[in-house]
Amino acid sequence: MDFLLPDRLDDALAAVAARPGTLPVAGGTDVMVRLARGRERPPAAVDLTRIPALARWERSAGRVRLGATVPYTRLADEAAGPLPGLAAAARTVGSRQIRNRGTVGGALGTASAGGDVHPVLLACDAEVELVSAARGTRRVPVREFFTGPGRTVRAPDELIRAVRVPAAEGPQHYAKAGRRGALVVATCSFAVALWPSRGRVGTGIGAAADTPRPACEAEHFVAAELAERRLWQSREPLPESVLTRFGELAAAAASPVGDVRGSAAYRRHAVAVLARRSLARAWHDHCAHLHAKSKEEEPCA
Ligand SMILES: Cc1cc2nc3c(=O)[nH]c(=O)nc-3n(C[C@H](O)[C@H](O)[C@H](O)COP(=O)(O)OP(=O)(O)OC[C@H]3O[C@@H](n4cnc5c(N)ncnc54)[C@H](O)[C@@H]3O)c2cc1C
Repeated sequence: MDFLLPDRLDDALAAVAARPGTLPVAGGTDVMVRLARGRERPPAAVDLTRIPALARWERSAGRVRLGATVPYTRLADEAAGPLPGLAAAARTVGSRQIRNRGTVGGALGTASAGGDVHPVLLACDAEVELVSAARGTRRVPVREFFTGPGRTVRAPDELIRAVRVPAAEGPQHYAKAGRRGALVVATCSFAVALWPSRGRVGTGIGAAADTPRPACEAEHFVAAELAERRLWQSREPLPESVLTRFGELAAAAASPVGDVRGSAAYRRHAVAVLARRSLARAWHDHCAHLHAKSKEEEPCA
């Protein structure tokens, strides 16, 4: 197997276009497991970690553009301000060694239903930036990116260049259920992101269907309740009935199967619990923020 180490994106694109089956490698935390187990024998592998254009993140016009090879450690350390949900999810991935190597680009490439960052990317309406030598750049909403277990819309001659994520404008929360509190792959997970200016509540479910997926009905339900009850500016807690229904609708959006980590019934139940708790916590933080802001704005006595 040839191993290529380009330092220019164009050379990497030429490599994946020239030989079908060429395997992109970022942190290698998934790739190396597959190669070591003999699950794959690609004709060539192309290491992307020496390409400066993929290793940057930048913020502009209310968005963060996160290069495909920015490792989880850097994401959590440097970008937690504009991307609090993604940073929280990144902190739960594997061990520090895995977080030092693993990347969001690699997670999108693997497209595991249980990847920790996927629910947050869904809740934030992120876009995946794909690039090929032949057709240039296209942007795909992450909600359209996953097509099946381990499958995505990425063509074999395309690379993931970056993920574009709106900067947070309200609280975001990521919750993960697993067999231990740390160093664990999710049995199921849930993300919620509040977007007060748009009256929107974004969601994402992990490890409870064949792909990561949003809970669309739960989103519409809670957005309508918040608008009808005029709650966004009220600082009032969310009614129990709203939280419970939100959890039920999130669970209904899941279609889990049972495996060594948990039964289908457990996963569905856990999604309801995580969804309800995540929304309650995010809403609590939203109200606390409004309260602090109103104190700041009070005239001095
Ligand atoms: C011990 C261990 C624990 C783990 N724990 C967790 C966990 O808790 N949570 C979690 O979510 N994951 C976990 N993982 C999985 C893994 O760390 C993540 O999926 C990680 O995000 C993969 O990123 P990477 O950069 O290492 O990808 P790589 O292994 O380099 O690549 C993964 C896939 O993406 C493709 N790819 C990579 N970059 C690109 C690109 N720019 N364009 C196109 N395709 C690309 C590769 O060809 C490959 O198919 C764990 C893995 C291990 C070994």
